[in-house]
Amino acid sequence: MSVRVRIAPSPTGDPHIGTAYIGLINKVFAMQKGGRFILRIEDTDQSRCTPTSEAMIYDALRWVGIQWDEGPDCGGDYGPYRQSERSELYAQYAQQLVDAGKAYPCFCTPERLATLRTEQMKAKGWLGYDGHCRDLDPVEARARMAVGEPYVIRLRVDREGTTVVRDLLRDPIEFANKEVDDQVLVKSDGFPTYHLANVVDDHLMEISHVIRGEEWITSTPKHVMLYEAFGWKQPVFCHLPLLRNPDKSKVSKRKNPVSLNYYRDAGILPEAMRNYLARMAWSFPVEEGEETREKFSFEEMVAAFSLERVTLGGPVFDVAKLSWLNGRYIREDHSPEGIWERLKEHLLSDERWAQIVPLVHERMDRLDEFMPQVAYFFSGDLDVEAEDLKPKKKSLEELEPVLASLIDKVDQLMEWSEEPIEQLLRGHCEETGWKPRDLFMPVRIAVTGRKATPGMWETLTVLGKERTRRRLREALKKVKAANRA
Ligand code: GLU
Repeated sequence: MSVRVRIAPSPTGDPHIGTAYIGLINKVFAMQKGGRFILRIEDTDQSRCTPTSEAMIYDALRWVGIQWDEGPDCGGDYGPYRQSERSELYAQYAQQLVDAGKAYPCFCTPERLATLRTEQMKAKGWLGYDGHCRDLDPVEARARMAVGEPYVIRLRVDREGTTVVRDLLRDPIEFANKEVDDQVLVKSDGFPTYHLANVVDDHLMEISHVIRGEEWITSTPKHVMLYEAFGWKQPVFCHLPLLRNPDKSKVSKRKNPVSLNYYRDAGILPEAMRNYLARMAWSFPVEEGEETREKFSFEEMVAAFSLERVTLGGPVFDVAKLSWLNGRYIREDHSPEGIWERLKEHLLSDERWAQIVPLVHERMDRLDEFMPQVAYFFSGDLDVEAEDLKPKKKSLEELEPVLASLIDKVDQLMEWSEEPIEQLLRGHCEETGWKPRDLFMPVRIAVTGRKATPGMWETLTVLGKERTRRRLREALKKVKAANRA
């Protein structure tokens, strides 16, 4: 069997470290087995997916050195690789199940489902669809469809028996079928659900191993049922443990930066990032008595890799540890000339200077004023105290919620450029009733450490979303601490 593996990110936000972590394991596995590594874009949730986010996934994965063999941008024999371009296929396969009596149209209204759920919650019993439309007469169903009554398509799940999920890293997991919902396969807008699209694509793309994050394990019985309903061979499933914060909670941007762009901008070398991500769930095999190997190259990893060495304990993504490993790469693998080359690649690239110089061009009398004026574009966290952030006419208590909700808005802003940033900040003033000067000064100080800077939108644009967000969050921490003191 030839090995074909994939990652299937949904382009709904910033490129996530978790995508690189799962991507890396898939890529290394494919390389070692002489197989293919596929990038599929799962963008069926059109309200949340954006082309900007898709482009950022490509850039970030390339930056970290995880290149795919087939994908939306480079094609391949199993395309298209973007789910929004495969809609007809899903409809066709769903119909195949309806025709075989293995799926059925369901006309229950959202109101009926909501009432059902409330009743089920009150009764504290099983939560799920009650099968109201399961045995509708097909002739009646067709007539209702013909007059345009909205419907979804659901899988007819056996009420008897069990479904077994086999995972390479775990004992078989058994699910009683009666506990599993008649899942929706096609939504009322005609778009497939994640489950249907994912299974149809993994089958048609001849994916041999589904290596993905543990958060999908609860979806797997639904996938197994779909493979059975279609009569298709299942891939090998392998669910990798989720990345954790040092406090063991699931990694989230509330605690630590999770965007690959942040780490790129912070000067983490891609080879160090790769190495660190590799160490998350897998360990380099060493002889007995030898010390654990923290540092190894991509090629060494490919040669030594096996899925069996993946351990299930919650791997901790610790920024301090990553920085330490990065430091080893800087010192052990690079000469000063090499580091200079690396600095010029991104942090000090001509492109970056071309963004920064215009900002201070008219603010200097002498060129030696340049560096001090732009230093905050290059540094990590700033040394800002809560008192520095206090607006003249507002208290730190008042600032706290305003800053917190601003960070949420920054999180959601996909288009990071002057106009949307200006709209966001002005909109936030309107919403909170704060005067621009009361809001802009603490924001300016939080992100630059200075009272006087070039224009706010221009500065934030060049600073980048990740660094802006990180600094706002650090500022919020200080404000919170001062308010609790
Ligand atoms: N679209 C899912 C995601 O965003 C894919 C999960 C899977 O690999 O099956 O991660």
